Amino acid sequence: MTAQRLDAFMARANAAYYATQDPFADFTTAPEISQVFGECLGLWAAMVWEQMGRPDPVILAEAGPGRGTLMADALRAIGTAAPDFGRALRVHLIETSPRLRAEQARRLAATWHDDVADLPPGPTILLANEFLDALPIRQFVARGGGWVERWVRDGGFVEQPAEDPPAGSAAEGTVQERGDAAAAWVATLAARLAGGGGAALLIDYGPAESGPGDTLQALRGGAVAEALADPGTADLTAHVDFAALAGSHAPVPQALFLARLGFHARTAALSAANPAQAPALAMAAHRLTAPEAMGRLFKALAICHPGLPPPPGFSA
Ligand code: SAH
Repeated sequence: MTAQRLDAFMARANAAYYATQDPFADFTTAPEISQVFGECLGLWAAMVWEQMGRPDPVILAEAGPGRGTLMADALRAIGTAAPDFGRALRVHLIETSPRLRAEQARRLAATWHDDVADLPPGPTILLANEFLDALPIRQFVARGGGWVERWVRDGGFVEQPAEDPPAGSAAEGTVQERGDAAAAWVATLAARLAGGGGAALLIDYGPAESGPGDTLQALRGGAVAEALADPGTADLTAHVDFAALAGSHAPVPQALFLARLGFHARTAALSAANPAQAPALAMAAHRLTAPEAMGRLFKALAICHPGLPPPPGFSA
């Protein structure tokens, strides 16, 4: 087989994976762990809509909605707490997998798009959880004082000359990743929000500061798998380099972000109303917010129209 640059390999492997497999057999995500996660994001969107001056109509978009759980939980909370927003919003989903689109359509009335660039014009509030980590990355390796780039051939890496290598040099063998696709996606989104108004909330996992290292990970059947073998049968992700993305506000650890949005108070209220569910809700809250679980590695990033104040959760 001819060699493919790692990002081209990852794009094709993930497109095949999301089109043919059930991702949720291989991994779980925050909205699948606790309904309070999506509810809090819905309330975040409602507060941002107020900050925007209550535009009507307004696009409520989600990128990579998976099973549609986050949006369904968000819309339920919005319907109760912010019915005016509920009436003004139009749901638009950005999803490339036909299989997941069908699953989302069972739960949501929405308009679907392949790409953020395809959203209709107008003020927009966009949510995304574990979307950017699925976008293809490139990997460069330090060799002989310069850089080569990793391509994939026959289930293994081959090193090729790098066309646009990272700046500077590094110790022999250092792996440096670059999320060109995520950076381009976020730049498109930011330009759209600056033009038409609105804000976006992107929650994903990765370090606070850029650094070297190989974070490409494959999950198959809930277990870590060989990333380059059997493309399309495993979920390929990489850490999101938040510092390289054009965010409007410094990323906030998920634990702090959710606490500021009232996650624990909502969990307590739900537990009081459904005592039989209290232990499961407590376990879910721990998973999403404990620093050794998802509380610290996962972070929230906001991108806003420059005229908006810091959105909820991004200032003390
Ligand atoms: N947000 C969901 C699902 C995360 S899985 C949750 O938290 O449970 C990643 C999602 O992004 C899937 O819905 C997948 O089909 C979608 N996706 C992956 N790459 C994409 C791309 N390039 N464009 C649009 N959607 C994509």
